Amino acid sequence: MKFGRFFLRNVAQVSAAPLYGVLEGNEVREITGRPWESWSAGSRKWSVQDVRFIAPVEPSKIVCVGRNYAAHAAELGNEVPKEPLIFLKPPSSIVGPDEPVVLTPLSQRVEHEGELALVIGRQCAHLKYDADVLSYVAGYTCLNDVTARDIQKSDVQFTRGKGFDTFCPIGPHIETQLKPEDVLVELHVNGALRQTGHTSLMVYPVTFLVRWISRMMTLVPGDVIATGTPAGVGPLVAGDVAEVSVEGVGVLRNPVHAAQS
Ligand code: ZN
Repeated sequence: MKFGRFFLRNVAQVSAAPLYGVLEGNEVREITGRPWESWSAGSRKWSVQDVRFIAPVEPSKIVCVGRNYAAHAAELGNEVPKEPLIFLKPPSSIVGPDEPVVLTPLSQRVEHEGELALVIGRQCAHLKYDADVLSYVAGYTCLNDVTARDIQKSDVQFTRGKGFDTFCPIGPHIETQLKPEDVLVELHVNGALRQTGHTSLMVYPVTFLVRWISRMMTLVPGDVIATGTPAGVGPLVAGDVAEVSVEGVGVLRNPVHAAQS
């Protein structure tokens, strides 16, 4: 099933708070509760043309995994890490589908990183090796781990280079049925293929990552884990349109806007 979070476009029906809904073909049906809770389908539904989808989650944290595809580690001159390399992006960096990534005057080199992201559905900590790890995952979505590469390199720490406002597009919705072990992750810029890789090429697969991260930090419903980017990262400039696609999930499309002075 696909779940989205949205506002109604019709001003006469504008709701103050965004709604969650389940996609039914070209329509979206309101649900009570959030997709990872016990929810029930409501009676109201709309054409997808009549709603504006926003980021499908409001995570307490976004845990990202660096250098999780060998070919990507190599293209930046890095070794594959001996343990997962993790870092955080702030929730304030999130934008939804079709919302702009806004460049910053502090960086001369902002790059795209298309990734499979997973959304936690049940609280977990210190998961054991025999845990049914995927039962803690509510579903999967697309994420663009936008990165100021020059700042990432000069700072060594990733917080600033990865943490600018609008540097974390997520969406367009959450797919609950995906088997994450072998799906195609791609990123296009202005329709041209830049990145491609199967999740089967991950150094540390999804189940390993969730269990490993849960040893450090309690994961709560709605938290997001970005699983790393395949090879082919490259620059984004004003006027570009970046599209992250995850097979079986959908396409996350975002325009790139010039830095605000
Ligand atoms: Zn990344």
